[in-house]
Amino acid sequence: MNKEIISNICIPTISFSNSFDVHINKGKIEKLIESTNKNRTSLFLFPSFHDSHIHLKLFTETLSQILFDPDDDVGKVMDKIKDRLKDYEKGELIFGGGFSRKFLDEFVNKKTLDDLTSDNPIILYSRDIHTFVLNSKALSLIDKDMKKQYSKYIQKDDKNIETGIIFEKAETLLTHVLKEKEKSFKKDLPKAISILNSYGITAIHDMDGINTNITQGLPIDIITFYRKDPEELNPKDGIKLFLDGSLGSLTAWMEDGEGISNYNEKELEVLLHKCRKHNLRPAIHAIGNKANRVLAHLFKKIGKEDWRIEHAQTVSDSALSFFKDINIAMQPQHLLFDIPLAKKHLNGKEYELFRFKSLLKNKARLMFGSDCPVIAPNVIEGIYAASERIDPESKKVWQLKEKISRKEALDAYTVNCARYAGLESGSVEIGKDADLVLLDKNILNCSKEELLSTKILRTYYKGKVVFE
Ligand SMILES: [Zn+2]
Repeated sequence: MNKEIISNICIPTISFSNSFDVHINKGKIEKLIESTNKNRTSLFLFPSFHDSHIHLKLFTETLSQILFDPDDDVGKVMDKIKDRLKDYEKGELIFGGGFSRKFLDEFVNKKTLDDLTSDNPIILYSRDIHTFVLNSKALSLIDKDMKKQYSKYIQKDDKNIETGIIFEKAETLLTHVLKEKEKSFKKDLPKAISILNSYGITAIHDMDGINTNITQGLPIDIITFYRKDPEELNPKDGIKLFLDGSLGSLTAWMEDGEGISNYNEKELEVLLHKCRKHNLRPAIHAIGNKANRVLAHLFKKIGKEDWRIEHAQTVSDSALSFFKDINIAMQPQHLLFDIPLAKKHLNGKEYELFRFKSLLKNKARLMFGSDCPVIAPNVIEGIYAASERIDPESKKVWQLKEKISRKEALDAYTVNCARYAGLESGSVEIGKDADLVLLDKNILNCSKEELLSTKILRTYYKGKVVFE
């Protein structure tokens, strides 16, 4: 058994005109035989996708949360909770948030939530995560001594009765109650993976340091990067470090003096030497043009083959040549949100944003991803963004010379990530893992409108259908 044949299928990474029978045996591609049947199916087989930057823990947590929009009013918030009530077992914690200040002003007290259920604890947090609203059930679960110690953070009415609102310190007060979340995390993890499979994804580079023991047996390949001290890690472990902030919050480390950096150049060099000494694999967040120049330069000096830069959002002309043979994980889908930011903050240097083509020309090793849950891990959208570069405001091509081909974008979502992770997947080739995705369009040559409407019909992981 274990054998399967996908017959008479077009494999655009091999040929646009011929079709093939793909023989799968024991999870591998055993044979690729040119099909003699001239009426080939109008379906297209590609290597399944990899996401080079994803937060698996955060993403999984969002599945069990009820998320609100900042402009949801009380009615809307209540409706969203009501709709989800049936998904919870009796006693299970209902956790969610994202409501704005406005909501809190309208929102009187725990009674509003008590009307929804007295069986389940409900905890909701504000958008800035500084205020929490609890129902009576949740309030009753808080440790008594804790309550005494932190009483000034627990709001009370004029009769000295708790209103259900907690300011600050909620993390501490609720530690015990929020432990519940870990249970739902384990329950939701397979759900998270199957959502990734539905996007055609079968391999990820995780930035949340997930314990890969708990992901074993799930249909996905994972390499992970930990947010720990170099001393706490084992040789070859990935380590996630942050050099600067973000463009939108003006904390990206820029050549013109703007922004912040968590380390100066000397400190950074010391830290990287430590990574080298412990034989670690650093993945370093760098957004600003200075952060990227300094980092790429140090990588050249002391870096190793498997080191990588995350985001590389702005790169100056003078720094491009430092990127030869350097792994960079970029997120093309973010281009759409970042073009307006670049126009506002990069003062005439907008061309430094997401330099896909220039980086490729300078022989950087490009890997694409999503930064999910910041954005949905939609590879098709990413390929569109990188190969079309359409400004969402003007609807015109933005920085034409940084456009890359569909194939180059696809490679950054497949074979380049696989090579970095040491996986036997990422291309449709004899002997490789049968990690494949079946699409209704040839994404390498369809129109850009067709590209955006492409459907994932089926995802294979080691020859098994994991999404249909
Ligand atoms: Zn991230």
